[in-house]
Amino acid sequence: MDKISTKDLQEKLFYKPCNVYDHMNSTDEAAMETMSQSYIRFLAEAKTEREAVAYAVRRAKENGFSEYQFGQPVKAGDKLYFNNRGKSIYLFRVGSEPIEEGLRITAAHVDSPRVDLKQNPLYEDGNMGFFKTHYYGGIKKYQWTTVPLALHGVVIKKDGTSVDIKIGEEAGDPIFYINDLLPHLAADQMRKTMAEGIGGESLNILIGSKPYEDREATDRIKLNLLSLLYDKYGIAEADFMSAELCAVPAFPPREIGFDRSLIGGYGHDDRVCAFPALEALFDTDDSAHTCMVILADKEEIGSDGNTGMKTWCFVDIINELADALGGNANTVRMHSKCLSADVNAAFDPNFKDVYEPKNASFVNHGVVLTKYTGSRGKSGTNDASAEYVAFVRQLFDKAGVVYQTAELGKVDIGGGGTVAKYIAEKNIEVVDLGVAVVSMHAPYEVIAKADLYMTYKGMCAFNQ
Ligand code: MN
Ligand code: MN
Repeated sequence: MDKISTKDLQEKLFYKPCNVYDHMNSTDEAAMETMSQSYIRFLAEAKTEREAVAYAVRRAKENGFSEYQFGQPVKAGDKLYFNNRGKSIYLFRVGSEPIEEGLRITAAHVDSPRVDLKQNPLYEDGNMGFFKTHYYGGIKKYQWTTVPLALHGVVIKKDGTSVDIKIGEEAGDPIFYINDLLPHLAADQMRKTMAEGIGGESLNILIGSKPYEDREATDRIKLNLLSLLYDKYGIAEADFMSAELCAVPAFPPREIGFDRSLIGGYGHDDRVCAFPALEALFDTDDSAHTCMVILADKEEIGSDGNTGMKTWCFVDIINELADALGGNANTVRMHSKCLSADVNAAFDPNFKDVYEPKNASFVNHGVVLTKYTGSRGKSGTNDASAEYVAFVRQLFDKAGVVYQTAELGKVDIGGGGTVAKYIAEKNIEVVDLGVAVVSMHAPYEVIAKADLYMTYKGMCAFNQ
């Protein structure tokens, strides 16, 4: 028997994550660059779930998709989308194989942490006008003060007419702002924990200061602001009751670093998975599988509500597809496979203590396969089967996809969850997969272009 060298033996037996750049040729690098530039445009355009769904609808139409209604006949080759209330969307292309072979589903979410307006938000105090807010999702509240904010959302008036609002994104637009205390007077504040330094009721958004011209009037700043809003949008104070308005960071996504290998932007979690999911669906037209992309809402607040991943709408669509194509819906679900496409926490050398480096995701190490999420003894996780993880590994190896395995931080440090468990409970195979993010849930997060590109390649391999 030939004796294998130690080096070869190590090569053969050790698991060694590799850097995407060591595995890309110039064609790959060019494709990565093109994709990154369109991703940056998408990030700039879609900062809320509604804007992401509008983007998906537009891109779907450009790619030959049309709107689906429950009960409509469906046949192989059809490209359809179901727009759920403008806040989540299911896009699917019907494959040539029998529907009972199951679907290939990629599910990402398009809501991101932010600061929502309360339903009666407007007031004045200390010669300034403000909006009261209630933050949305897991944020470190102090990060949202003293940064430029844009206002996005929709107001539905009593008569049902709707007004879209988006202020703070164009060069000439005003922006909005949350105050913080000057260090000179912050001795008490600085002694508090970072969680307590800025309270939820202090996240009030500064929106103006000019009084209404009539000197006899009361609440003149508030009146002036309402009068401006009425002139521009035809809305009165009570209309905030039926509005969904939120403050998001006003800065545009940008490349980071001398080598431009990273992208900074608001809402990488989880648009950095939503974007390649869409692109992969559009680019795998010839697959025999029936492929579906889900862009879900409300993941950041627990996936509840009729646009979150817990909604029956998902099962309803599969039932409808099974009916229309002559399959048993239970069999369709049992044979379906899903990538729960969500981000993982990239190892950050500035905060080494919270990561266990053998099981952490690293920037530029490719798409992250996360077998389980959860916390404190894997509580609240899907924990994908070994069989299914092996299936995905095989697909990726065959397609030259660079991937890594990770969990979210050290055991007992914290944890997190994704939509995976809500899909798994419907009797569907599912594993978490996505991009490593630096400074997750901050107003400005960071990802690597190489990881975005490998996530796209992984999703293409899955659809094929
Ligand atoms: Mn996420
Ligand atoms: Mn998140």
